[in-house]
Amino acid sequence: MKIPIFIKMDRTRLRHCPTCRARLDGATGLSKDPADQARMKPGDVTVCAYCSSVLVVTADGFRLAVEADLADVDPDLRTILLTFPGLRPKQST
Ligand SMILES: [Zn+2]
Repeated sequence: MKIPIFIKMDRTRLRHCPTCRARLDGATGLSKDPADQARMKPGDVTVCAYCSSVLVVTADGFRLAVEADLADVDPDLRTILLTFPGLRPKQST
C-alpha cells in the first residue's frame, strides 16, 4: 500500500550545522497530513543537506540527534529520513 507523503519547502532563520558548520536557512518538511503547514520547530528531527548528519532543532540552532530522538518520529517518515538517497546519515566508524 502506498502511503502519501506531502512535502513542504520553507525558509527558516539562519542556523549552522554542528557537524559541518554549513549555513542552513531552509528546510523541506515531510508530513502524512496534507493540511500540515507547520514550520520547523524545536524538537523536530532533520538532516543536514550538506553532510547528512541527523539533527534535532533547538531554540538556538541544532544538536546531533540521538537514538531516543528518532523513536518519536513517525515510522514511515523515519524510514524516509534515514534512507532517502542523498540524505542517508553517515555511519560512525
Ligand atoms: Zn552538516
